[in-house]
Amino acid sequence: MPTDLTSLVADRDLAALRARLTAAEPDLLADLERLVNVDCGSYTREGVNEVAAWTADFLARLGGEVTRHADPAAALGDTVEAVFRGAAGGPRALLIGHTDTVFPVGTVAERPFRVADGIATGPGVTDMKAGLLTLLYGLEAVLATGQLPFERLTVIANPDEEIGSPVSTPHVRRVAAESDVAFVLECARANGDIVSARKGTVDYVVTITGRAAHAGVEPEKGRSAILEAAHQVVGLHALAGQWPGVTCNVGVIEGGTRPNVVAERVVLEVDLRAVDRVAMEAATAAVQALAAAPTVPDVVVAAAEIHRHWPMEKLPRTRRLVEHAQALAARLGFSVRDATTGGASDANTTAGMGVPTLDGLGPIGGLDHSPDEWLDAKSIVPRTTLFAALLLATGRDPEVVAWRAAALR
Ligand SMILES: [Zn+2]
Repeated sequence: MPTDLTSLVADRDLAALRARLTAAEPDLLADLERLVNVDCGSYTREGVNEVAAWTADFLARLGGEVTRHADPAAALGDTVEAVFRGAAGGPRALLIGHTDTVFPVGTVAERPFRVADGIATGPGVTDMKAGLLTLLYGLEAVLATGQLPFERLTVIANPDEEIGSPVSTPHVRRVAAESDVAFVLECARANGDIVSARKGTVDYVVTITGRAAHAGVEPEKGRSAILEAAHQVVGLHALAGQWPGVTCNVGVIEGGTRPNVVAERVVLEVDLRAVDRVAMEAATAAVQALAAAPTVPDVVVAAAEIHRHWPMEKLPRTRRLVEHAQALAARLGFSVRDATTGGASDANTTAGMGVPTLDGLGPIGGLDHSPDEWLDAKSIVPRTTLFAALLLATGRDPEVVAWRAAALR
């Protein structure tokens, strides 16, 4: 029998969450200013660890068992993990937020946190300090109800999302393997959409090796890597659209030495994306086929895969999470739609493992990774209330509880 979604979170519970988070708004904004004003680009280990320590303290105050996992190579910051135990037999949840930004040291001095006309700015304000605070304050509001409807809820705050999560992915995978549901707190899209699917990405470095020769005296002895690069670029760009949702971009091209030399070497940097696994496998096979069959004789083309994120496909169970988010948002007086976005996040990892995952649950903002990054400060309380209510609703949902039971069988 279908569950009446409204019955899972009573009107008075919803009102209590909203009242609590409305009262907490000044504290949340002060914490946002505190965190935005730390230079914490992925490679700024000290800054990332300052944010990690702050986050670990917050989670410990909420009663979590907190562990800080250091980067074995001591290059990147710590991954913070906090475990909360609740209702026995309830589902197991994973919440993810990242502590790093894409901005170098000095950005805070140039353009510190500001709020003007309800719009907050500053490095990482939307991507994703605001989302991290939605996670922390939303969880705090749920715990304040005295009922955590999850058998186990694990928070991971990772230091390296902006560079593809190289040191935190093993931790994310370990916890996701024992989770029934995952929520990623990247911010909502600029139009307020949450995210139920993300493209997967593959990064390539394509090296083209020809043979140098004098361009005027004996050009016939040369094999132009630049001519072959032209063929490869056209072929790579033509992959876009051959499968629905596939895009391919040669973003960097470097090679040759002088006009009077037949070019010996060219390097291309390529970004390939796909919305589903089948299309990604087909498109990556096509990249290798292009490399294996150069147009210019005797030239060698090698396409090296540097990094891969499988697509975050919308799983059938994810629909249930979207229904909860939409039903709760409507009761809170706004509407949300779910969307597919082109960028990858840690949600690609959890969804790729088959864990129903929703992303984009933070406040509303846009122009991430640019100096014009902005956050709609008025969206903080509604979205944090939505997130807290979503935790209660999914934890109590008999259908989600049944996912846990099925995992035990
Ligand atoms: Zn992010």
